[in-house]
Amino acid sequence: MDYVNSVVDLVGNTPLVRLGRSTDGAPGTVLAKVEYMNPGGSVKDRIATRMIEAAEASGELKPGGVIVEPTSGNTGVGLAMVAQQKGYKCIFVCPDKVSEDKRNVLKAYGAEVVVCPTAVAPEHPDSYYNVSDRLVRETPNAWKPDQYSNQHNPRSHYETTGPEIWRQTDGKITHFVAGVGTGGTISGIGRYLKEQNPDVKIIGADPHGSVYSGGTGRPYLVEGVGEDFWPTTYDQEIADRIIEVSDGDSFSFTRRLAREEALLVGGSSGMAAFAAVQLARELDDPDAVIVVLLPDSGRGYLTKVFDDDWLGQYGFLAGESGGQTVGEVL
Ligand code: PMP
Repeated sequence: MDYVNSVVDLVGNTPLVRLGRSTDGAPGTVLAKVEYMNPGGSVKDRIATRMIEAAEASGELKPGGVIVEPTSGNTGVGLAMVAQQKGYKCIFVCPDKVSEDKRNVLKAYGAEVVVCPTAVAPEHPDSYYNVSDRLVRETPNAWKPDQYSNQHNPRSHYETTGPEIWRQTDGKITHFVAGVGTGGTISGIGRYLKEQNPDVKIIGADPHGSVYSGGTGRPYLVEGVGEDFWPTTYDQEIADRIIEVSDGDSFSFTRRLAREEALLVGGSSGMAAFAAVQLARELDDPDAVIVVLLPDSGRGYLTKVFDDDWLGQYGFLAGESGGQTVGEVL
């Protein structure tokens, strides 16, 4: 018989898929690491597993404990999945601008979701930040993973994703490209790859406006990447270069990946893949082996990136690579 005891055992060991038509004939090999193949549907299953296991080992998370995290996205799904299998309760705090669909995914896994008003200042008692801090203080046996400071976030990539990429490319990888949110992905994978071969170049992809590419913060529309502060999970020594990508280019490339590669992925994947193909074109080297990490599935964005009306509302035309910026829309 061939089976696993829990879906948690299926986290990691995701495939590499070579990009074809969408590279427009750029020389070299561009390989996509398809993280939506994880059981929770994103790269964040890896950090959820590692952060929970480490907190169990250190005693921070005790039997019957409650995981409290301000998240509405992929990290929440990963935490909810692992927590359910291990018998912990989850409470997620999210702003009311988060779609009902996203909240319902978390509830479907058995998590509790606390919704806070977006239209209050951060210092207001009902703000996202204050409510999550209060819940941690007031809930017995509460533990907050905090993916922005928890070093098990980059460590999970150092221990799993990095070695997988090295093994899958037979050590031939020359460049690694990833979007930067908490920075855990690029920092952990980048450190591992540079230890194997210091010549491997690490390239961050970043939305126009984010701090990693010299901006001050928002506004931009691509979700899950870019920041308005510098998290401690981001190793500022790791990236050799940051490529700034506009929302327009991110979204149009996301749609090309679905139509030309049958890879239905989210906007941050389109952003990173756009940067990887731009890099391939610049390098103009048939021996280049560029690996780009695609964090999540496009299923969560059908009413956004894949909806012509939504794109049009922000001045983006479906399928057009315009490089427009978003302006003051957020
Ligand atoms: N894309 C998506 C959709 C994400 O949710 C995240 C995580 N915030 C990232 C990219 C960036 O990954 P990391 O936090 O490891 O930098």
